[in-house]
Amino acid sequence: MILQWYSLNKRDLPWRRTSDPYKIWLSEVMLQQTQVETVIPYYEKWINHYPTIKSVALENIDNLLKIWEGLGYYSRCRNFHEAIKDIFYNHKGVIPKQIEDFKSLKGVGVYISGAVMSIAFDQTHIAVDGNQSRIIARVLGVKNQTSRNLKRINNYLTKLVKEGNPSEINQALMDMGSNICKSNKVICVDCPFHFSCKAFQSGHPLSYPKKILPKTIPTKTIAAALVSHGDNIFITKRPLKGLLGGLWELPNIELVNGEIPEDLLKIKLADQFGLTIKVGHKLGMINHTFTHFKMNVLLYNCQAKDQPLSKNTEKWVSFSDLNQYAFSKANHKLFKLVELRND
Ligand code: SF4
Repeated sequence: MILQWYSLNKRDLPWRRTSDPYKIWLSEVMLQQTQVETVIPYYEKWINHYPTIKSVALENIDNLLKIWEGLGYYSRCRNFHEAIKDIFYNHKGVIPKQIEDFKSLKGVGVYISGAVMSIAFDQTHIAVDGNQSRIIARVLGVKNQTSRNLKRINNYLTKLVKEGNPSEINQALMDMGSNICKSNKVICVDCPFHFSCKAFQSGHPLSYPKKILPKTIPTKTIAAALVSHGDNIFITKRPLKGLLGGLWELPNIELVNGEIPEDLLKIKLADQFGLTIKVGHKLGMINHTFTHFKMNVLLYNCQAKDQPLSKNTEKWVSFSDLNQYAFSKANHKLFKLVELRND
């Protein structure tokens, strides 16, 4: 039934027009925490620039991050690059077909390994993400997401993929999760499971599984500096490890104890970058939300006395050259603020 549903309702997606495991893997990495519609242009741009494993392995991370810019969760890009280099240099450029070997690569976890091995090689593996787990929880009438229930869901899926064609079954479940069995909307009459689905039979399918209330997240206040000298502004690169690793940004500092932003920026920029600055007026404020915290960023117009550079993670660039570097969405919001002020 599910395969029949898939043959009639399969979405036409660019990574479904290939059997190249490298491209299928890339799509799964990009799709983690990200909507299909958002991923499509990024996937196409990446494949145009980097059609092969070799082309990624030999590329600089800065250029890869530039392609990834705006897609978020940048550790995915860095880990993918590391894994691809590992394959190119240590596996003769061939993606391992053994799931345990594949899983040992950087950034490849249980979901990615199951998805790639099943879709690219039609191996009997499950690929349980939020969508699959929700669908099967409904089919089984599971309300609470206990470890026992998660095991029941995994067992059900394992049985399903063992019936044959794991590649299509996993992709069918992905499509069902985004089309007919969404978290806030179901179209049960179109669903291949509706004859047996316990949630449908209950008359309240949306109450399965029980929703976990989102945690409240803290808000940080950050002061950022648009430091100019002549026609250039100062930018700095974040360390490769950690949040937004490898992206460029305007220098900034968190205000944790009610400090005066102007004073703190002067100290930070002198200590960290050897910059002597005069802090001018506030250009405005932007808000941005990450998974674990929100931030309000206050942007200050600053003038530097000169253009010192102490490391290769610091640059003076003209405003028109900023597009050559990869910045986070929050930094793009700050640039927008500056553009609006200059209009
Ligand atoms: S019958 Fe309805 S609730 Fe059950 S799996 Fe299908 S779409 Fe989801």
